[in-house]
Amino acid sequence: MGEGNRMKKENLETASLTEMEKGDKRIDRDWLLLHYKTTIGVVVFAVIVECLLSLLFVGSDLVTIPTERYIFKYIAVPSSLNFICIGVETWALRSKYLSQEQKIYTVSLVFVFICFVLFCAHSRLTAIYYIFTGAIMLTTIYADYWLTSITAAMSIISIAVSEIFIRWNPMKPYVFDSMLEFGDFLVSILVLFAFSAACMVVIRFEKKKNEASYQKEIERYELKQSINRDELTGIYNRKAMHEALGALEEQDSFETCILATADIDYFKGINDSWGHSAGDWCLKEFARILTENERHYTPFRYGGDEFCLLFENVTMEEAVSICDRIRRQVEELSLKDHPQIKLTASFGLAAYAPYIDATRLFIHSDHALYDAKKLRNSICIYEKDRLEKSQWMK
Ligand code: GH3
Ligand code: MG
Repeated sequence: MGEGNRMKKENLETASLTEMEKGDKRIDRDWLLLHYKTTIGVVVFAVIVECLLSLLFVGSDLVTIPTERYIFKYIAVPSSLNFICIGVETWALRSKYLSQEQKIYTVSLVFVFICFVLFCAHSRLTAIYYIFTGAIMLTTIYADYWLTSITAAMSIISIAVSEIFIRWNPMKPYVFDSMLEFGDFLVSILVLFAFSAACMVVIRFEKKKNEASYQKEIERYELKQSINRDELTGIYNRKAMHEALGALEEQDSFETCILATADIDYFKGINDSWGHSAGDWCLKEFARILTENERHYTPFRYGGDEFCLLFENVTMEEAVSICDRIRRQVEELSLKDHPQIKLTASFGLAAYAPYIDATRLFIHSDHALYDAKKLRNSICIYEKDRLEKSQWMK
């Protein structure tokens, strides 16, 4: 049951859902790393291509400016800016102060800036605006509408700013020089819009898929709960207890176990005198008290009016003191509809001993309960040869 087959309350409650959330975060983290590496790949690839192009074109008719100026303008400046961007990303990813979400936004927006630098430097090649589609597309995996929208908006603004205000390459005709240039500019903006809209649709379906698997996980969790929970009181049932003991038995932690068996005194009489629904009320109230005190143990309804408390990592003195607190609370209980009913319970405790198994532990606590029942409203500890005198009278 739960991770490592260990019965822990939190495992029973939310393990599968938190596991799913953790899994999602892990995927985001892995993707963020890939996203970051992709930006490095783009920068390094761009430097290599720029160098190769300079080898091909410098000295030809296509390059009209001096070689040093060409290298400075189209290799040194863009590469330096992009390597600074990589530095910013690296800092962000290693930062202890940024949340995962802030890191994702940083890497996504820095990637847009890298695209902007490359676009400014090479806008002579019309198709270079496609580079922004990569920056937008890589954000879809995070399934965050805002992130993709901001990335898309920044990409479109980058194209507009570069085309209208920067004009790094004076050889490139100005966007308002002719209808053809302006049309080219508009098409690139429209294509990016359409591409961003397509990414939003992808995110919508990705979210739907995630919700469906969450829903499935919730249903699986609820089914598991209904199998392990007692219908009347809502606490764990006998099946869950056997699983818990079985799981503890498989581990070393069994040695730290104490099992207390509690049984309501004269419960049959309550049913007979006040009716079954009053009896049910008593059982629910008893379970409520057990749940309220459950910091050091897990409570189970074993069956009928018999309950078990599985203690871990407490001494026998502590377990007895907790049982006594419960015993007193039960004694003081006043049922709203039946104030005449006085409820008491008896407890039998047994600790793990070498060479005993879970079944024996339960038998020992039941033996102790049997002796507590001789007095009722009392607590007994199982001892090998005799029962201790640790009993409390009414
Ligand atoms: P003792 O002090 O020796 O425990 O006496 P007792 O009358 O409590 O005897 P016992 O524990 O054997 O009685 C259990 C009774 O619990 C028998 C059964 O009718 C009743 N019971 C079992 N399950 C339920 C239930 O879900 N609701 C109600 N109201 N009664 C139940
Ligand atoms: Mg009873």
